[in-house]
Amino acid sequence: MSHDHIHKVLHRHWAYNQFRPLQEDIIRSVLAGRDTLALLPTGGGKSICFQVPAMAQEGICIVITPLIALMKDQVDQLERRRISAAAIFSGMPPKEIDKVLEQAVNGELKFLYCSPERLRNEMFRMRLPKMPVNLLAVDESHCISQWGYDFRPPYLKIAHIRPLMKNNPPVIALTATATPPVVEDIQNKLEFKTHNVFQKSFERKNLTYVVIHEEDKLMRLLRLVTNVPGTGIIYVRNRKKTREIALWLQNKNIPAGYYHAGLDQKIREKRQQEWMEGKIRIIVATNAFGMGIDKPNVRFVAHMDVPDNLEAYFQEAGRGGRDQKQSWAVLMYNKEDLLDAQRYFQWAYPPLETIKKVYDELGNFLKVPVGTGVNAAYDFEISQFVKTCNLHPVIAFNAIKFLEKEGYLILSDAIKNTSRVFISLNRNQLYEFQVRHAYYDPFIKILLRSYPGLFSGYVRINEYEISRRAAITVEKTQDILHKLSHMDVLDYQASSENPQLVFVGQRYHYRDLQISPETYQYRKEAARMRLEAIKDYVTSSTRCRSHILLDYFGEKNAPRCGKCDVCKERNKLNLSQYEFDLVLDRIKPAMLKEKITLQEMIKYADIEDHKKVMSVLSWLLDHNKVIKYGVYYAWNTREHQKEK
Ligand code: ADP
Repeated sequence: MSHDHIHKVLHRHWAYNQFRPLQEDIIRSVLAGRDTLALLPTGGGKSICFQVPAMAQEGICIVITPLIALMKDQVDQLERRRISAAAIFSGMPPKEIDKVLEQAVNGELKFLYCSPERLRNEMFRMRLPKMPVNLLAVDESHCISQWGYDFRPPYLKIAHIRPLMKNNPPVIALTATATPPVVEDIQNKLEFKTHNVFQKSFERKNLTYVVIHEEDKLMRLLRLVTNVPGTGIIYVRNRKKTREIALWLQNKNIPAGYYHAGLDQKIREKRQQEWMEGKIRIIVATNAFGMGIDKPNVRFVAHMDVPDNLEAYFQEAGRGGRDQKQSWAVLMYNKEDLLDAQRYFQWAYPPLETIKKVYDELGNFLKVPVGTGVNAAYDFEISQFVKTCNLHPVIAFNAIKFLEKEGYLILSDAIKNTSRVFISLNRNQLYEFQVRHAYYDPFIKILLRSYPGLFSGYVRINEYEISRRAAITVEKTQDILHKLSHMDVLDYQASSENPQLVFVGQRYHYRDLQISPETYQYRKEAARMRLEAIKDYVTSSTRCRSHILLDYFGEKNAPRCGKCDVCKERNKLNLSQYEFDLVLDRIKPAMLKEKITLQEMIKYADIEDHKKVMSVLSWLLDHNKVIKYGVYYAWNTREHQKEK
């Protein structure tokens, strides 16, 4: 493929003039037919990496991605660019899935988004060999690894569909968070023909990380928002606090709003929009906020609680400074918060028996008989559920999340589902119907005139718009659509806004749940290690924050940032980084071996200005790196172990 071709595609469909760093290399690798893993930080432009090669070739690209809301966003975005795309996910009526699959087989789609558990579906597996697939894209590919922080078992099935595709298309895996073992795992589990990774450094030069140990976090927050002009995000763990802090800020005349998954969908959208447009300066939110949001000028991201792991922290903090201008990622904590983090971790892994009990109670609550319920979606309010089963909401929620990770259930937040219509009759049959049922004739005419494409697939409609044109009420419009649906003239999928719970397979008897205690332990242990890693990040007073993060994501020997709170402390020494490291490199091995005196230390350091050695030493003493025994100094080996 010529150099020009992919640039033309980029320009024609996206109106961008050039590729971002690595995008072009990744695209070329894919076009050369190679399995490719792309590791780009959030906002790095991952979508382009699979969308451009898919557009540059004949055929359809299948995209696996776990979050229904984001899937819909992407489909919308593509459609706005006049690229045909559709999604299939659990909870969607089989009829509609069938229609989408048919369009995919007929070459009417360029992109088919699938949630991973759909891959097991028979309808999908039968149609897949007939689709002209040019690329299989696996977004959020870290979900395939048990080592990752967001393991989803259905991802393990992705490799199974590779042999079902004709012409053996390559796979591109994408992620913004992967530690080195996860990077390995992704390539193995997706059965890469050869390992092939493109990784953009996760260093964020314009983002300054700061950790503040503080008892009075609110006052400190106020200082932050007064000192740093511009827009920001404040993350807290619980929903109640989002409201309290937002109101508190408003009282201080700072325009703030709050956001969490428990709010009405419409309110959420409105808040998010107001914040995007700068009408609200600060949004106080739980981690439900931010995914898929692409606001360039966020000047600070503050965390008022300790997040569960560095992966989540890096993603959330990384929403600051997308425009490359100086921004702040501030984490405030006190002792109590560290204990809280520990508590949350315990809650996240309720005993296995509890998890099974919750599964059983769910079936009873939703009245799903054992052996039925395959892929059925139920409106589900967790607050109602916990009332009936007498469980702590946090425990119930985490048990459901665990069952979700085991592939038994899917719990989606309230997602906005626009209403959709597909006309199941052909043109002649419809005409005959109109003749026989004159009453519906004007309505059908308006429908056909307003929405092209109703015969070939599900089309999004707006009942309000139709009612205006037909000069009837919205209720009447819905009523007619339901009636036509019952008469099998069309299929009407009315919009829904409730959170949904889906049984991915049938409802099992709880004795038949296959959750092995080993898997459970293994997952819990991996989560505990991630918690330890973030605790180390928070409590370290000697390692550059950026350095810790980069190291965690596998970038060894990354430079110190020189700007975080730790580096700032060190800068006060009036020593260059180079001098500091030089002295340290010379005296540390000696002190690790035995106790030495100051005179000996100066000899080892071997630099002219002895004061510099004293500065390094006093810094090491202040930070508990070195211990003094009378006139002797020795490395604090306990700290040394921790560093390792
Ligand atoms: P990610 O999935 O890595 O977080 P996205 O694919 O959503 O990132 O891209 C982030 C933003 O960058 C989007 O608004 C996208 O349109 C934009 N973008 C991506 N590539 C380019 C490019 N080559 N030139 C200009 N903008 C781009």
